[in-house]
Amino acid sequence: MKNITLAALAALALVGCAPKDNSLKMITEATFPPYEFLRGQEIAGIDVEICRAVAQRLNRPFKAETVDFDSVIPAVISGKADLAAAGITVTPDRKKNVDFSIPYVKTGIVVIFKKSSPFKDKEQLKGKKIGVQSGTTSETFVLEELKQEPERSKSPAEAVAALKSGRVEFVIADIDPAKNCVKGEADLALSDFITSEEYAVAIRKGQPELLQAINVTIEELKKSGQLDKWIKQFTEESDKLKDK
Ligand code: GLN
Repeated sequence: MKNITLAALAALALVGCAPKDNSLKMITEATFPPYEFLRGQEIAGIDVEICRAVAQRLNRPFKAETVDFDSVIPAVISGKADLAAAGITVTPDRKKNVDFSIPYVKTGIVVIFKKSSPFKDKEQLKGKKIGVQSGTTSETFVLEELKQEPERSKSPAEAVAALKSGRVEFVIADIDPAKNCVKGEADLALSDFITSEEYAVAIRKGQPELLQAINVTIEELKKSGQLDKWIKQFTEESDKLKDK
């Protein structure tokens, strides 16, 4: 019996169809505190807890993986992952390629600037070197509203490092990671919102049951106050990690 099982497994491995892993896989980009960041080797944050709660509702094991932000949405389109959650803003363009859950946060992008050369209005940004994280709505803002090429980085923190060293004159990023980046930086400050955006979970199109499970989970997390608790908890934790 044992031999038969082993032979069967070997045959399965040969044809490349190993036993199916039933886990619900989240794809994210862990440089975006407090929504996702690395706690040592582990991916932690608000989005991780939302996706874990969806896995619990579906009674499936949970896994999270981090990639560059540009690769997050492609990973759910190709089926490599089930849920994409990375502080992803709902946009009409993205809606053509994925389905979005109901939103879980209202937010937007801001300008990060040096207090020695304060930001006043959008006009002032024209023709300036502006750092953004690649693939984000901040990049779209520079391309479409300012009609110029941004200086692309892999993370908000990398863009802010470029601002500090003078390689860019302003950075545009989502408010929460922006706040985390300027924490403890006495010469940097943030503008008010320059856009109004909402985050939601993205999945491959045509999965109404999964979408429903995510939506019900988000509704419950909002209603119970758990989402607000996570926002507070992970903001504090990621701020502390920054202090280290
Ligand atoms: N909210 C922004 C976007 O969706 C940035 C997200 C991110 O960098 N993780 O483009």
